[in-house]
Amino acid sequence: MVDDRLRTPGAVRDAERFTAHNYHPLPVVITSAEGAWLTDVDGRRYLDCLAGYSALNFGHRHPGLIAAAHAQLDRLTLTSRAFIHDQFADFCRELAELCGKDLVLPMNTGAEAVETGIKVARKWGYQVKGVPAGQANIVVAEGNFHGRTTTIVSFSTDEDARADFGPYTPGFTVVPYGDLDALAAAVDENTVAVLLEPIQGEQGVVVPPEGYLPGVRRVCTERNVLLVADEIQSGLGRTGTTFACEHEGVVPDMYLLGKALGGGIVPVSAVAANTDVLGVLKPGQHGSTFGGNPLACAVATEVVRLLATGEFQRRSAELGERLHAGLQSLVGKGLVAVRGRGLWAGLDIDPTLMTGRQACERLMERGVLAKDTHGSTLRLAPPLVITAEEIDHAVAQLAAVLAG
Ligand SMILES: *Cc1c(COP(=O)(O)O)cnc(C)c1O
Repeated sequence: MVDDRLRTPGAVRDAERFTAHNYHPLPVVITSAEGAWLTDVDGRRYLDCLAGYSALNFGHRHPGLIAAAHAQLDRLTLTSRAFIHDQFADFCRELAELCGKDLVLPMNTGAEAVETGIKVARKWGYQVKGVPAGQANIVVAEGNFHGRTTTIVSFSTDEDARADFGPYTPGFTVVPYGDLDALAAAVDENTVAVLLEPIQGEQGVVVPPEGYLPGVRRVCTERNVLLVADEIQSGLGRTGTTFACEHEGVVPDMYLLGKALGGGIVPVSAVAANTDVLGVLKPGQHGSTFGGNPLACAVATEVVRLLATGEFQRRSAELGERLHAGLQSLVGKGLVAVRGRGLWAGLDIDPTLMTGRQACERLMERGVLAKDTHGSTLRLAPPLVITAEEIDHAVAQLAAVLAG
């Protein structure tokens, strides 16, 4: 008899037994993957329509990324920043070039990139802008998701993310997302930064009204405030361009990057900005033991090179049109609304039909893995290596689920 821990129900039970329940995963136990496809312990195959929340933009085990990781594992994995290693310069230069910025500061997780952005903006505020000590404030948007640290959840408007984690870090002003007048009114002489997602991913792939981001850029420039774009989920090809800000011709003062930068292999995040901003940091003022390690740099340099070809951005733009056309055809047939750009879509399911969670469970039974965000909202973010036929397949399975 086969050990039941090697089958889905036993493996699900064991996975839940010794872990904090800070997630509510779908009851599927993955054992291998390639490209856009996952295989579970029972040998069932699933089309991945989440891509690790966009950490897997290039698909599972992209050959070039895996080769870079293997080669680096055989040479050098960690030095700490106390010493320089031979993968560091190329990574920083090529990422800076991709971003059109002078400098890069590598970290590991997205939340660390956000924390870094906050610290740099505050220091810039005191040292360059001349904000009185301890008075810096940062304007953020309702519905934001920037990570899980105590400072970041301090300005979250999601009660689950925030409640009972106080005392909260002061220095943040929350304004409605997409409302330029409210944002302009919240900026004062002590504002050092506006921190925004150009598209709010966790909130349900919410695209702000046209003209909003250019308006924010204008306000920031006029009032001497840094525009910090959290492109951790929206960036690196997801929306059909390298950065989501590009759709409206906006260049932020600081990019926060993560997720796909690690190629789905290692956590890699980074802040990119010009010397007048990132140059405020001096030795000892910020750091990370693992940030910019050789393995991370080797993989992330390969990620940057994949993006430098433009191929993945093009795929996302072209296939995104197909995905959105397919989803639009389901509006009125179980879907209430569809939003997004490129291979990134937020869907509101008719709440009288089912919750987002139920939709995901039924999609799973049909061999498609996706994730609900809130209530009846679902997010689709397949790997950018997905094919047109696979997109049609995913849309057909969703249509079947909605049709009951
Ligand atoms: C995922 C995410 C983060 C946090 O990244 P972690 O690697 O989970 O810390 C921050 N901002 C945005 C927009 C994200 O989607």
